[in-house]
Amino acid sequence: MVFDTHSHYYDDKFGETREERDAILEEVLSGCVSGVINCGTTYENSLECIRIAEKFGGAYAACGLHPEDVTDDYAFNDESVGKIKALLSHKKVVALGEIGLDYHWREDNKGEQKRIFRSQLEIAVKEDIPVVVHDRDAHGDTLSIVSEYKGVKGVFHSYSGSIEAAKELLKMGWYISFSGVITFKNAVRMAEIVKSIPDDRILIETDCPYLAPHPHRGERNDSRLILFTAEKAAELRNLPVDRLISQTNENAKRLFTKIK
Ligand SMILES: [Zn+2]
Repeated sequence: MVFDTHSHYYDDKFGETREERDAILEEVLSGCVSGVINCGTTYENSLECIRIAEKFGGAYAACGLHPEDVTDDYAFNDESVGKIKALLSHKKVVALGEIGLDYHWREDNKGEQKRIFRSQLEIAVKEDIPVVVHDRDAHGDTLSIVSEYKGVKGVFHSYSGSIEAAKELLKMGWYISFSGVITFKNAVRMAEIVKSIPDDRILIETDCPYLAPHPHRGERNDSRLILFTAEKAAELRNLPVDRLISQTNENAKRLFTKIK
């Protein structure tokens, strides 16, 4: 049984209606997947993550304001963060996320992205809850901002930074999570990073419906396909796949302490 630490089952790529989307998750959780963390990107879909977590035993939620969802209305951003903060005490909300910086989609609002990232990291420290960090094309700023918050713990999801930055993060206690991207044919640099992470800090995820692993690249992803990522990580780390899965499951439970 494998645990998927990062998914988005509220996404309309899983169906136009809640019923269709929930039916897919029900199927996923009746197979080889023991559980999933649905990660919110706005206040509204964070609520949907909680609804799903209340419906399915194996589903947990992360709630946060994603950098792509930071708007040009500063007051609205702060209001969303305030409402998200109030969700964190829910017994199935295991993390604050996903939060971070994304300069791939927007470079014109870097200042506001950073401000909202910091304000959520402050909440994480105060509430003593782990964070799920999204860092796309913003490696330098993301690393320097998380370095300001020594007390914060969490994971860099679908890691895409350098091996040097991964070492810095590991020193500060962070976990590093790998998605289907490590199975892509051109993922040579990532392979070296996968090999370098200590046994007690590696996580795996799908980020479904996005980032389906090879040989399903480009298709709609779901948590069952995490096995391709687990197999690739196991091969790179020279381990039987069962062992890799038991390590990553244990790591997920250690980081996200509310997982049963
Ligand atoms: Zn995601």
